[in-house]
Amino acid sequence: MPEPYSPKYRDFPLSNLIDSLRLVRVRCRYCKRLHNYQPADLIQIFGDVDVDSLADRMACEAGGRDHGRLDVEAFVPTGREAVGLRIRRLVAIKINHVPVWKEDPA
Ligand SMILES: [Zn+2]
Repeated sequence: MPEPYSPKYRDFPLSNLIDSLRLVRVRCRYCKRLHNYQPADLIQIFGDVDVDSLADRMACEAGGRDHGRLDVEAFVPTGREAVGLRIRRLVAIKINHVPVWKEDPA
């Protein structure tokens, strides 16, 4: 089926999805992992960014950046799909403390 012609006039922020009860589906083309996310959870991490930009901001949980760019799409779960649909919820945001070292000047 050909894609309908839909020029991108502007960014499409995550907050737009909340009002229209849409979810975000993220798929790794490499290992086929697929997760569904609540836009509100993603906003907590990335801010109210453009939905398409998540393809570059997110990385595959299995292979990281090695698995390349992710497929990201907003969708409305249809009646049948909504039953038993698993949604990956944000539990916590861990902050990584990375030590940075430098020699004292002699
Ligand atoms: Zn992957």
